[in-house]
Amino acid sequence: MGGVSITNWAGNVTFTPPRLHAPRTVPELQELVASSSRIRALGTGHSFNRIADTDGVLVTTRELTPGMDIDRDAAAATVPGGARYGDVAAALHERGWALPNLGSLPHISVAGACATGTHGSGNGNRCQAAAVRAVEFVRADGELVTITSGDDGFGGAALNLGALGIVTRITLAIEPTYDITQDVWLDAPVDRVLENYAEIAAAAYSVSLFSDPGTPGRIDQIWLKRRDEPPADGARWGATAASEDAHPIAGQDARAATPQRGERGPWHERLPHFRASFTPSTGDEQQSEFFVARADGPAAIEAVLSLDLRDAVQVNEFRTVAADDLWLSPFHDRESTALHFTWHDDDALVRGALARVHQALAPFDPRPHWGKVFHLDRDEVQRHYPRLADFRALAARHDPERKFGNAFLETYVY
Ligand SMILES: Cc1cc2nc3c(=O)[nH]c(=O)nc-3n(C[C@H](O)[C@H](O)[C@H](O)COP(=O)(O)OP(=O)(O)OC[C@H]3O[C@@H](n4cnc5c(N)ncnc54)[C@H](O)[C@@H]3O)c2cc1C
Repeated sequence: MGGVSITNWAGNVTFTPPRLHAPRTVPELQELVASSSRIRALGTGHSFNRIADTDGVLVTTRELTPGMDIDRDAAAATVPGGARYGDVAAALHERGWALPNLGSLPHISVAGACATGTHGSGNGNRCQAAAVRAVEFVRADGELVTITSGDDGFGGAALNLGALGIVTRITLAIEPTYDITQDVWLDAPVDRVLENYAEIAAAAYSVSLFSDPGTPGRIDQIWLKRRDEPPADGARWGATAASEDAHPIAGQDARAATPQRGERGPWHERLPHFRASFTPSTGDEQQSEFFVARADGPAAIEAVLSLDLRDAVQVNEFRTVAADDLWLSPFHDRESTALHFTWHDDDALVRGALARVHQALAPFDPRPHWGKVFHLDRDEVQRHYPRLADFRALAARHDPERKFGNAFLETYVY
């Protein structure tokens, strides 16, 4: 019967749906959804697990409903779900507007990123889905539905794991455009960083700590993205100011990274670590990420760094994310510290290393990133979500036959 074979961005997951569709109009998508028994959307394929998989029709919305509507009075922008954050951000900035935050790369789609709880960093910054004001999607019977902030079910619609339908447009809260200054500090002793963790996490609008497994006992880079805050003196934490631009991963070309060394510039060219025109990160990798309570950050980071994962890890990144009230958000009701792993692209190595990470983080009640690799069992995931039953009821309302379902959702959600 033919079928197609495509991989995710990392190449560690292959999708083999019977059909791949790129509808150009909403009515075309509505008809496709209504007439399919199994269907699911693929964004830009930057997730590292099978969350986007389907045994039916795979749909991309990248050709659908181009353009952006800005409601100045409501400070909101409605954008295509399939649009990449980098394009949305540049168009907003041109019109004098901005988003509150971005993830580390601009290449991902708005619908895909919001669906998995994608986040950037900052004590005061919530995940990308927390900026959603309305979600328009084609549900299982082909109806076009909009769920707006304040509506019943909104807490499950803004961050939806792709379970409610194919998202066509998303309305995002915006604010007047602003500038960011990025400073990088190098080579701080882990002990000093962990002793001063609360101060460092609060030292800038968005803060990332990078640790290279080849240099144990050090936090190799501290990236401070400042909005209005005064510059911080990293020497207080035993770090040295970088004299040239840095890439988060040792040996990679710093030209792929966003501008640093105090050069002030637009928010969307500083909040991501990677420039839109370059391959983000290394390209040859897998990723995992776990979230613990922010206050447990130092102990959880210490637990992870005490494992010798040199064979498996390319780099660790530690960030903070503000709490929200979205039903399936990994940050639901919890100010969080995020512990990220960029792995070498080797399934066996990653599996072995993850078993040790799961054990090391168990005392901290970790929640996994929905779009990255994890091997926690169903109960370890589900017990973090007190609104899971509400989410299932919402999904049953819009997709009673689970045509948007897949093995990932059957394991962790249903
Ligand atoms: C190099 C790299 C760096 C990363 N950095 C970060 C980071 O800083 N922070 C972070 O949190 N994550 C990060 N990620 C993970 C990434 O943000 C998430 O995996 C995100 O979901 C990817 O978006 P996507 O458009 O590729 O979605 P996909 O991976 O294509 O899809 C993700 C999910 O969204 C669903 N979906 C996509 N489009 C639609 C639609 N139109 N309607 C309904 N459902 C839809 C899919 O079915 C699937 O379930 C990174 C990934 C990479 C590769």
